[in-house]
Amino acid sequence: MTDPLHEDGATAITSVAADGLYRATVPRGEGRRLYLFSRLARSYRLFDGLPSVTGGSAHFRQHPLTGEWISYSGVRQGRTFLPQTAECPLCAMTSGELKTDIPVDDYEVAIFTNRFAALTEEASPPPDMILETRPGTGICEVVSYSADHQASLSTIEPDRVALLLDALAIRCTELMANADIAYVMPFENRGREIGVTLDHPHGQIYALPHIPDRIKKAADAFRTDDPLAGLSQRLPEQLVLAKNKSGIAFVPPWARYPFEIWIVPHQQVADLAALGAEARADMA
Ligand SMILES: [Zn+2]
Repeated sequence: MTDPLHEDGATAITSVAADGLYRATVPRGEGRRLYLFSRLARSYRLFDGLPSVTGGSAHFRQHPLTGEWISYSGVRQGRTFLPQTAECPLCAMTSGELKTDIPVDDYEVAIFTNRFAALTEEASPPPDMILETRPGTGICEVVSYSADHQASLSTIEPDRVALLLDALAIRCTELMANADIAYVMPFENRGREIGVTLDHPHGQIYALPHIPDRIKKAADAFRTDDPLAGLSQRLPEQLVLAKNKSGIAFVPPWARYPFEIWIVPHQQVADLAALGAEARADMA
């Protein structure tokens, strides 16, 4: 009898326990990796996915006035731009036909090396220019919150958001352990208006070889004192949106945008991993 798993070219992979959740790791060629996270042990049907993209000569250039390092990469110009839903690279695959970047039959939370990475682990020498340049060393990952193309953070169940935060905590810790990495930033740019090129619910992780100036300043503010200490008592009531035993969501009186919300844990910690699973679930 033919193994039905092999009829359409798919193979079976299973997840293994990792830090309170389950993960399957799939090598994707050229040093790229795909991580599939789930709350319970499960298996996936794995297909051949989209191939790697190389080149682009990623590098940093230093701004002559501010000293900031600015990232340049030609490979970003070739990235998938607002595809039809049927050709979305973040959707799961139903057969071997339409290839995606997450080539499994279904998933919960997926994190993988960006195919159009602005920074790479093995960066080539930077170009000679009239200003200071540096190799574009770093790691860029894409974080898909759900296999459901229509979902968004606001429609995903709190338990799935907690799984997402747990998965981010694991990846941020692993990326920080890399000797070439000084700062790891998970983020989501949301909406076509600011240049998002895929509608599928997703964010990104940038692992940088230096600490950005804004972050350095913010970290320095914590060296002598905790500038946010006792915030939940000090904030005017009308600025507080939600509060629980682990944290507080509020509109900062120092907001820089017309729409800005901060979610801050009560406990002062260095990163998402140090927060612990219970507090992360409360934040979700
Ligand atoms: Zn999609």
